[in-house]
Amino acid sequence: AAGTPYRGRFAPSPTGRLHAGSLMTALGSYLDARAHGGQWLLRIEDLDAPRMVPGAADAILRTLEAYGFEWDGEVVYQSRRLGLYRTALDALLARGAAYPCACTRAQVAAHARRGVDGYVYPGTCAQGLPAGASARAWRLRVGDGTIGFVDRLQGEYAQDLQRDVGDFVLLRADGVWAYQLAVVVDDAEQGVTDVVRGADLLVSTPRQIKLIERLGLVAPAYCHLPVLVNAQGEKLSKQTLAPELDPDGAAAELALALSRLGFAPPPRLPLAELWRWAHEHWSLSGVPAGPVNIGAVP
Ligand code: GLU
Repeated sequence: AAGTPYRGRFAPSPTGRLHAGSLMTALGSYLDARAHGGQWLLRIEDLDAPRMVPGAADAILRTLEAYGFEWDGEVVYQSRRLGLYRTALDALLARGAAYPCACTRAQVAAHARRGVDGYVYPGTCAQGLPAGASARAWRLRVGDGTIGFVDRLQGEYAQDLQRDVGDFVLLRADGVWAYQLAVVVDDAEQGVTDVVRGADLLVSTPRQIKLIERLGLVAPAYCHLPVLVNAQGEKLSKQTLAPELDPDGAAAELALALSRLGFAPPPRLPLAELWRWAHEHWSLSGVPAGPVNIGAVP
């Protein structure tokens, strides 16, 4: 809200080490927070146990530290905050805004069409579980209407959730809290005013705004930074074999991340001077909205 001091965050999932793409996101969110005189929090999004890589969270923190990022307060781990997500789901259920669902993935796939992010749930269990069926997952009732917002970098973005996504999962059949719920609850609980993250998450934002509304919370401002893609246009990730960051090459890696974000730092600055340069020059007006190719910048 207007007048609230800026509070930003970086929220990596410890599914692997930091790579050149996640470094861009960390750097953009950090510089933007500091440029607004704001705080910058770190949150480890470690809910999806099967996808977690042992040691990855510590490795991410060590890299950020070695590179010179300075976060505010204690690092928060989602795996230690399950009670908050339960409380939020209970509040939604009490309002009739969420409901249990008995459908398996295969059943959904058989009856649904594809939307903007996977299948659009056809609402099979929206009016109650079929006789004799038991709850597997819990979903949010999205209702009618368009959810739009103005992203600080991407501009206007809107979805008709009913048509594009459908009632979406809050608590998965395997007992894991969905990213959409956890991120909304945590950003609100931590007082985050500004979400700066990768544009791959733009497609999730209308769902998060709907949840924020349903929970009676206030939406943060959003800024979705360009993602780093390989020659095939795929987002850099462990799956697409993102090259590892050089732990001893902080200044070079950060300079490269800065240039991918649209800046032209003087070559070969030592780390402290590079940070000073970055803080002085950060402005969203120089940042490209679209994907950045990993080969595009020398
Ligand atoms: N944990 C998510 C990721 O690593 C980011 C969540 C967010 O910034 O909202 O993709």
